Amino acid sequence: MKKIILASNNKGKIREFNTMLEGLYDVVSMSDMSVEEVPEIGLTFVENALIKARNASEQSGLPALADDSGIVIDALNGAPGIYSARYAGNHGDDEANTIKVLEDMQDVPDGKRTARFWCAIVFVEHANDPTPIIIQRGWEGEILREKVGENGFGYDPIFYVSIHQKASAELTPEQKNNISHRGKALQALLIELQA
Ligand code: IMP
Repeated sequence: MKKIILASNNKGKIREFNTMLEGLYDVVSMSDMSVEEVPEIGLTFVENALIKARNASEQSGLPALADDSGIVIDALNGAPGIYSARYAGNHGDDEANTIKVLEDMQDVPDGKRTARFWCAIVFVEHANDPTPIIIQRGWEGEILREKVGENGFGYDPIFYVSIHQKASAELTPEQKNNISHRGKALQALLIELQA
């Protein structure tokens, strides 16, 4: 089967993409191909996903996929945005990141607490591919005033999902995948790759 590199070393992500692309591609990680990370110097999710995909393809010689995601809060002018993973300073400190958002949002009234998760996924056939597949999907919600629920990760405990009247961290993985930014982007990617 044709190999494709996912510009990530996150085992959960590699598994998720492998399951989805079963029969189409064998998804390998950056460490499988000894690919070094590259600085994410873009200002948008798409730019960063493109930077990561081109780098992974260039170093591995394989077609590449990359995703970039985060949360965009209207009352904070789009922050944490592309800095979602390290909003409070340390990369991947979900607890500190959510607390910082709750503090920043303390004085923001109900009705002005709108936000969306955002996911960009990019596919390049080769490092200089001038026609990458670019997919972006969002998931609308509101920022809660305290953490609720145990599921998921990152900002899930403070993201209110109106159609379920629950926090994202109270949804089952299946419920979340059906409506989330990443779930919808992955479904769209599959359709594009099969086209
Ligand atoms: P990355 O795309 O893996 O770099 O993720 C960026 C950051 O966005 C994560 O560390 C989380 O803080 C946040 N994020 C992205 N997707 C989700 C989600 O589905 N739930 C909660 N947080 C998320």
